[in-house]
Amino acid sequence: MTRTVYVNGEYLPETEAKVSIFDRGFLMADAVYEVTSVIGGKLIDFAGHTARLERSLSELEMASPVTMDELLAIHRELIVKNNIDEGGVYLQITRGAGSDRDFVWPDPEEVPGGIVLFTFAKPLLNSKTMDEGIKVISVEDLRWGRRDIKTTQLLYPSFAKMQAKRAGCSDAWLVEDGFVTEGYANNAYIVKDGTIITRQLSSDILHGITRAAILRFAEEAQIKVEERPFTIAEAQEADEAFVTSATGFSQPVIEIDGEMIADGTPGPIAKRLREIYVEEMLKTAI
Ligand code: PLP
Repeated sequence: MTRTVYVNGEYLPETEAKVSIFDRGFLMADAVYEVTSVIGGKLIDFAGHTARLERSLSELEMASPVTMDELLAIHRELIVKNNIDEGGVYLQITRGAGSDRDFVWPDPEEVPGGIVLFTFAKPLLNSKTMDEGIKVISVEDLRWGRRDIKTTQLLYPSFAKMQAKRAGCSDAWLVEDGFVTEGYANNAYIVKDGTIITRQLSSDILHGITRAAILRFAEEAQIKVEERPFTIAEAQEADEAFVTSATGFSQPVIEIDGEMIADGTPGPIAKRLREIYVEEMLKTAI
């Protein structure tokens, strides 16, 4: 089926959608993005995603070409047009197409931002990786220092993912100064003696929308949470490990750099948090 996508004010078949070769998203990764999951045709934690989007835009002094209400309407329209029951919506806002290629940002009054949205269908609730768990390798974290801004500079995460794939793993955990920052496209956690340990928020990591919800639900379920850095060696000795992301919810990690975590089977806390997450987030899905 040819999807309908949204490009700079128009709904178009994906085969007819075009962006300028001068768009700064294309030339310089001068763009921010969000991925919101969809369950039962409804958006999960849309408010969380728009709040982070507005922060990313403001940190980069970038203007949004649409209001957040218009953005919600576009998301909904695409879900309906593409008949999405389970999957997600990808949104990207760029600093627009200036003249030629310039390191100086164009005046937002003169050059409007670019905007692209598309949907994808993907089973989220019945996931094989949830049942089996994932294997990760560690890779040095060589990304830029503002990882709290969700930009489309994804070459390094893509490089890390390729290293994981070549090692027969599905994910990479990024390590800086001896400590895990986060996963290549998710936040990373370990569990020891019933306490969840995950790196504290700073510009070292993306402030995951799922992370915020999962930590809230963990505290409500009286599970202790410690926000601090941890090493790969500590993770390998943990009782459990897992990752969180908007489309993966919480996924168990069963192996890190070839070492099994506990007995190598998915741990109970990641599973329980996933159940709570889905149940609670469906209540506020729109
Ligand atoms: N960390 C990184 C580097 C990511 O790319 C992502 C998601 O894309 C996350 C964490 C998880 O964030 P969220 O839960 O908002 O999807």
